[in-house]
Amino acid sequence: MHYLIFFIFLLAVSFPAKAADVPVFDRSDLSTINLGTSTIYFSQSDENHKEMIDSYIQSFSRFSQSVELTDRSTCKDIKIDVFLLENNIINDRDDMSFLDWESWGDKNIWGAYFRINSQNRRELFLNTSAPMDVFVESSFHELYHWYQDITCLGLSEAPAREFSKKLCGLHNQC
Ligand SMILES: [Zn+2]
Repeated sequence: MHYLIFFIFLLAVSFPAKAADVPVFDRSDLSTINLGTSTIYFSQSDENHKEMIDSYIQSFSRFSQSVELTDRSTCKDIKIDVFLLENNIINDRDDMSFLDWESWGDKNIWGAYFRINSQNRRELFLNTSAPMDVFVESSFHELYHWYQDITCLGLSEAPAREFSKKLCGLHNQC
């Protein structure tokens, strides 16, 4: 009897976890850099990729110095897959059909934070065709959504905008 109960329990927990890890964005043509908390995905053919990778890494470092990322302040452990995509890809409504475009009036985007159906992974998208100041501000903004997520604050726009503005001013970057 005990075995049966254990088996049922295993089934119940393993099926949702499996379904959750199916990637929504096709990354098969992209190169990767693993930085621990973030894995960066980028295209070698994107002429801005080197500059934007450096910029994202610097933004992440500035972001992590401005928020508390400890076991005590966070409620869950979530890694982020960061996609650095050119404008024609990030704004392709077919490639990016999993985003809820209607919710922001179907406007083109500089970045997006996507809570895929996974317990421990999220996807963050940034537009590498953006002017540098916009790219930096978007990085801060989307990273703040990740912070809201891992601290169980609930995702909301006003604090993310305030945070990115403050960090932009502090570093005189955007
Ligand atoms: Zn936002």
